Amino acid sequence: MTVVFPVPPRVTVPIAQRDAVFPVRRIYCVGRNYAAHAREMGGDAREAPFFFQKPTDAIVASGSSIAYPPVTTNLHHEIELVLAIGQPGFEIAVADARRHVFGAACGIDLTRRDLQNQAKEAGKPWECGKAFDASAPIGALHELAASAPLPRAGRITLRVNGELRQDGDLADMIWGCDEIVAQLSRLFRLEAGDLIYTGTPAGVGPIARGDLVEGKIDGFGDVTLRIN
Ligand code: MN
Repeated sequence: MTVVFPVPPRVTVPIAQRDAVFPVRRIYCVGRNYAAHAREMGGDAREAPFFFQKPTDAIVASGSSIAYPPVTTNLHHEIELVLAIGQPGFEIAVADARRHVFGAACGIDLTRRDLQNQAKEAGKPWECGKAFDASAPIGALHELAASAPLPRAGRITLRVNGELRQDGDLADMIWGCDEIVAQLSRLFRLEAGDLIYTGTPAGVGPIARGDLVEGKIDGFGDVTLRIN
């Protein structure tokens, strides 16, 4: 069968220390998963996790420059641990979550905070605030060793032009990686290639044209981004 326009190449993420890439299927994100960030956003730290999606082609490779996105004057950074699903599953038990995860990376959930806040206030969907073009920068995936557990602790930081803006620890996640995989898999059948942005610690804030954004997570590399 002929196609009526060229099929775009599959979106992929590089894998650290391997000559291989991870083909991306879907991008899921967790809202408010660190108590201090939930408080800074005006939420209750104990509410159940909720999920939203970004389009797969919102992925941006670490080291890229992106244009300041349109229709916002309040672009925010959110540094996040990103889980990569390697084995499909539905209604995964918390105790079985580990075997479905291929690895993890450092990602940034770029957010048009003004549009997100307008949507929240109006009870409207979040897509315009969260799922815009180039809204999902990500660093190389770090494959988990066969014997390694899911990440439970580790410093997670984000700097803008060298200034420390976010400084948290994975141990402060309200819902752990195993619980996120289990809960998300009750809503959607997870497939190899799915990515899950697991929420951000406190300290989110605006970024401007010309800024250099650098995120880092102990054991899971880094992600850098320039805004033009
Ligand atoms: Mn986020």
